[in-house]
Amino acid sequence: MDLIVRNARIATTPDPPPIDIGIQGGKITALAPNLTAEGPEYDAAGLLVCAGLVETHIHLDKSRIIDRVAPEPGRVPRSMERVAAVKHSFTQEDVYRRAAATLEACIAHGTTRMRTHVELDAGVEMRSFEALEQLRRDYAWAIDVELCVFPQESLTDNPRSDQLIVEALKRGARVVGAAPNYDPDRHAHVQRIFDLAREYDVDIDMHLDSGNAPVDMDIWQVCDLAEKYRLGGRVAVGHGCKYSTMPVADQRGLARRMADAGVALTVLPATDLFMQGRDQEYNVRRGLADVNLMCDCGVNCSISTNNVLNPFTPMGDCSLIRMANMQANVCQISQSAHMRDCFAMLSDRSARLMNLKDYGIALGNPGDIVVIDATSPEQAVAELREPLAVFRRGVRTVTRARTELHRPR
Ligand SMILES: [Zn+2]
Repeated sequence: MDLIVRNARIATTPDPPPIDIGIQGGKITALAPNLTAEGPEYDAAGLLVCAGLVETHIHLDKSRIIDRVAPEPGRVPRSMERVAAVKHSFTQEDVYRRAAATLEACIAHGTTRMRTHVELDAGVEMRSFEALEQLRRDYAWAIDVELCVFPQESLTDNPRSDQLIVEALKRGARVVGAAPNYDPDRHAHVQRIFDLAREYDVDIDMHLDSGNAPVDMDIWQVCDLAEKYRLGGRVAVGHGCKYSTMPVADQRGLARRMADAGVALTVLPATDLFMQGRDQEYNVRRGLADVNLMCDCGVNCSISTNNVLNPFTPMGDCSLIRMANMQANVCQISQSAHMRDCFAMLSDRSARLMNLKDYGIALGNPGDIVVIDATSPEQAVAELREPLAVFRRGVRTVTRARTELHRPR
């Protein structure tokens, strides 16, 4: 064996006995208690193990620009406009350097799979796309990155964005996204993205339904089109802040519709909390969709990072476990099963959202192993327990030392 991880507590099994994982040629080739095998060993000591955390929604290209963006003194954040105003400064090298710093922080927090959104428009042309393609290749030793190309600054009145997205899809982008909120014709925007997805046979991941009231929601159109074109399981939407402003019975009705249509939901707690309720000066509404309720109604959901150090979210450390903790805290999650599901929304559920067929601790899958300093998924989320060791295809990529107290002798 190239590596044997001993005494691993696998996150997907409730109250599991420790098991040994054997990795050979980059793949998991043995799974058994007290595995008889020879090779280098890592003792997980009964700690929680998963196949890596899965970031379904992040913006590497516009991360770490808060220092070059004009501050916004009022309650209206004008985030899209403030980013658009500095996009001309995005050279390929600049995007690469910032995105690499963010990607390394994600890797250090145990992320092994990622979908990053990338903006395409006349302001940035293909520079961000090309930088992220290079980054994807350079960091394949630690993480699988897939690109979701989308028009942040409207599509229907912006033919250059449309041309660039077509170009990126021809060059192999695997997912197409959308931002209908910023388009004068939201319905045509959504329709065009579905048309592109069908033409190029790619998955869809749209920014959808940010806002402070359950009006003008695009989710109904998305569900109708997912059903009409039989794209269930290949369509995800991010944010869904408006859903949190609906009475619970209506949220359940919406969830059943999404579950039937096969449309998944990603919440972005850091951004949603920062951006929503800006019409209020006090007693500010949170605008965070209750993904546990959605999961209970059959929707597949994930929890992700979205923005880091930019006008949409001027903070962030790229810890997905911190995002799950924030989600659980804000949505007042207390039941153990729900806390556990919050961890699944960083791992198995996220992998399912991205249609990753080879994710998980199972024979034949890649030897990607993350050892977390916890004995259960619930504890990892509740206590913000971080990964201690990460292996990618059986090779160590991350080591994080435990904090030590130095007691007086
Ligand atoms: Zn986003």
